Amino acid sequence: MKTVLITGSTSGIGLGIAQEFAKTKQYNIVFNGLETNGKEIADAIGQQYDIDVMYSNANMLKPEELQKMVDDAILKFGKIDVLINNAGIQHVSPIEDFPEDKWNAIIGINLTSAFYLTKAVWKGMKERKFGRIINIASAHGLVASEFKSAYVASKHGIVGFTKTIALEGAPFNITANAICPGYVKTPLVEKQIADQAKAHQMSETDVVNKVMLLKQAVKEFVPVEVLGQMAVFMASESASTLTGTALPIDGGWNAQ
Ligand code: NAD
Repeated sequence: MKTVLITGSTSGIGLGIAQEFAKTKQYNIVFNGLETNGKEIADAIGQQYDIDVMYSNANMLKPEELQKMVDDAILKFGKIDVLINNAGIQHVSPIEDFPEDKWNAIIGINLTSAFYLTKAVWKGMKERKFGRIINIASAHGLVASEFKSAYVASKHGIVGFTKTIALEGAPFNITANAICPGYVKTPLVEKQIADQAKAHQMSETDVVNKVMLLKQAVKEFVPVEVLGQMAVFMASESASTLTGTALPIDGGWNAQ
């Protein structure tokens, strides 16, 4: 069995990715997230697919908790083969009002946590000559939208980080890739729909069609299953030459 650690996997995209790994029955899964029922979510998937799971509520802003999560996972499962840096937050505000604490939290959670975790799993991956690092960036890792300065900076940052570790990992069969989704209907986006409806004084349906999906050629939310299936492929032994990419799965947003 291999082991995959997925941050922010007790909600949204991370949970969807965990489900696709669980379906293969080839992975122990380390769940993480701040949801108070995180352990129940992890245990339910473990039971459903008859696989071993672990749950950690490590906070992405606390490096010592990240190190402990990795140490606990190695103690339980012996190794971490696949690291998926997915936990993330958003805040939408014009630059002149952008709260400094939100900027720091977004950079800390969306970007710096990936640095700490990659560092923590790197030595083992290098020794075993196998590792897969998958970073959930965003279409906003490749293009910007107004009022999302911290988010866009964090996602462009993680794309750059991905490329760098792809180069450093290549001699050791460690790959690193970023997945850049368009809009996915998760709690993070549901909150944005409500907020934007208020800000633009529009109905929620109009926000979805006229604001959110405006830039996507395919006017559909990206299903979490597709992101999960791509992550499972990126994690596979056969994907050893797939590295250093920032792959948009964004309904054609980045084609424009
Ligand atoms: P979500 O809010 O449903 O899930 C986010 C997860 O991250 C939750 O489990 C939450 O507990 C965890 N998290 C947040 N702050 C944390 C912290 N300090 N410590 C530990 N865990 C923390 O959001 P989502 O939409 O599933 O987003 C997941 C990732 O996908 C994010 O990086 C996001 O930027 C990215 N993304 C989302 C979309 C989208 O449309 N939903 C599009 C592109 C990229």
